Amino acid sequence: MGLFEKTYEMGHQEIIYCSDPSVGLKAIIAIHNTNLGPALGGCRMWHYDCEEGALEDVLRLSRGMTYKCAAMGMKLGGGKSVIIADPKKDKTPELFKAFGRFVESLGGRYITAEDVGTNEEDMNYILEETSHVVGLKGKSGNPSPVTAKGVFLGIKASLEWVFGTDELNGRTIAIQGVGNVGYELARLLTEGGAKVIAANTSPERIEKAKNALGVLAVHHEDIFDVECDVFSPCAMGAVINDNTIERFRCKIIAGAANNQLQDSQMSVRLMEKGILYAPDYVINGGGVINVMEEMSGGGYDYNRVMANLQIIPKRLTEIYAYAQTHSVSTAEACDRVTERQFQR
Ligand code: NAD
Repeated sequence: MGLFEKTYEMGHQEIIYCSDPSVGLKAIIAIHNTNLGPALGGCRMWHYDCEEGALEDVLRLSRGMTYKCAAMGMKLGGGKSVIIADPKKDKTPELFKAFGRFVESLGGRYITAEDVGTNEEDMNYILEETSHVVGLKGKSGNPSPVTAKGVFLGIKASLEWVFGTDELNGRTIAIQGVGNVGYELARLLTEGGAKVIAANTSPERIEKAKNALGVLAVHHEDIFDVECDVFSPCAMGAVINDNTIERFRCKIIAGAANNQLQDSQMSVRLMEKGILYAPDYVINGGGVINVMEEMSGGGYDYNRVMANLQIIPKRLTEIYAYAQTHSVSTAEACDRVTERQFQR
């Protein structure tokens, strides 16, 4: 498929190739949709095997941001950027400043932030060249605790939908990945009275969750087979796939990871298996709610962020009702309801 054909199909408005050989910058900024407002999306730094892979990633991720911002009821569109470089050895202040100049040249149509491979320090170099950067130190900061709280509220709304009560006592939740979000989620769930079973590829991470929170640990390859009420993917994408789908022994899948479904067919198969799937870009929208607070201009107010998170259980319940009424999967229902928000 040709490049323009692909961007037409995915609905992108602009793709910007940023090149500055003097500092070794190779980056792509993708602006998917700005109907609701400027395109928000993080800057990922990754050692891609090929440039086509980087383009594929930025197109997919920027489109996802349009849906996430619209689903969270924000006056923001979707964008993303990728810097093709190794975050372990290629970072220089000059590289981030050069990238910042490209962001500045877009006049505010794209707003950048931290993402995989970039951090607050990198954002500060970008800030030297443009004000269109968020998630800065001393402002909204690390979004993970807010994301975890949003996932927690989403799990409770999903329990309410399936069991008619959001009580955590007596419920078992299996968490894949107790990193920044998963650990905080495990803390909220154990404090709420749930039994948490978790897995992590890093032994230190799982030890910490075992010792500090009292979660039960299983090997990371066995987490899909755990009998539980909720399976919560909080590690990587595409975990609902041909190899795992027959293994789930849960009633609900609700977690923080982005792009959990290998493809749209997976959500139909979950529906057929009687498993309620909480669409990822809704349940993990706490991070953008947090950053939006920084952009609101009135100073960061934690209590307002907590209040704004209530949109997550509300949206999920609307989506579950739509899916039931129209006999479609929750992923399909979610896309339909969200597209109405941003499409003209
Ligand atoms: P993280 O890197 O801090 O945590 C992920 C953890 O998963 C790591 O500890 C890693 O060791 C572990 N892991 C990796 N592969 C695993 C496997 N196969 N089995 C078990 N554990 C495995 O990342 P995070 O910030 O906690 O984010 C978790 C997920 O949520 C990611 O998919 C991220 O894109 C998504 N997300 C995060 C935020 C946020 O605010 N941090 C917001 C939205 C979405």
